[in-house]
Amino acid sequence: MPDPFTDPTPMDAGTRRAVAPVICYPDADLPRADLALYRAARGGARKITEVVIPPREARCFRVPAGEFFRISCPEGSQVGDLNLWRADDLGERFFSGKTRALHGTHLGEGDRMWSAFPFLRPMATIIEDTLGWYGFDKYGGGVHDVIGTRCDPYTNKLLGGGEYHHCCHSNLTRALAAETGLPLHQAEAHVHDVLNVFMCTGFTRDTGQYFMKASPARQGDYLEFFAEIDLLGALSACPGGDCGAGHSSDAAPCHPLLVEVFRPADGALAGWQPPAPSDYSRSHGVR
Ligand SMILES: [Zn+2]
Repeated sequence: MPDPFTDPTPMDAGTRRAVAPVICYPDADLPRADLALYRAARGGARKITEVVIPPREARCFRVPAGEFFRISCPEGSQVGDLNLWRADDLGERFFSGKTRALHGTHLGEGDRMWSAFPFLRPMATIIEDTLGWYGFDKYGGGVHDVIGTRCDPYTNKLLGGGEYHHCCHSNLTRALAAETGLPLHQAEAHVHDVLNVFMCTGFTRDTGQYFMKASPARQGDYLEFFAEIDLLGALSACPGGDCGAGHSSDAAPCHPLLVEVFRPADGALAGWQPPAPSDYSRSHGVR
């Protein structure tokens, strides 16, 4: 029993802590992806193009609505940092935070990558994950997180790491500038919190600190998406490699990543339409 004169813990602390949690956004309330339709269309799809992402670099790629893209480890375990934008408007970009709130800390089959306000619609849907077996390990770690942001030179400098120019943030910035022709600093403003493909992360149970551990991905593992709208993507092969030790340096062994784009047969998606942006009035209560 706490001493009320020396311990700020209230007498009913145990009762308050014992209140059961409530899921903020129950799965049943979310519009469901028609995975059966997507997978059937994927079955008859043919490969259109591919982009190789060299170690410690990023590259852009484009995927029209209704096509598929696969991110894989062609040579060995490697973490990738993924950004998505609507192909013709960089203002509509992936919203890591709301995706986390809707689907949880780590994404898997059937989960969507949602776009930022005022659009809030699925940009891409995960249709296959060869690491889906991993689940959550005894440390609370899972794969493909939306809790980390991306390694970046600002935090590296803050923590005494000096100047390093191949963090995912810088890689994505250079790739977007090269793809769009935007000046470097304008391109940088469009780089956003990522989906950490193949990265294994969690929060420590005792202190709640963000942790990473060596990715369970192996050569040949992949994550595959259906593009719900016309997409411009950028993928960085993180300088941390499998992120089992460090990042933001050239110390870790790094491998390339591969992005392949597949187009379904004509008519395979009959009846499917790209999702519309949110129909909220945007009045915000102002008449
Ligand atoms: Zn990184």
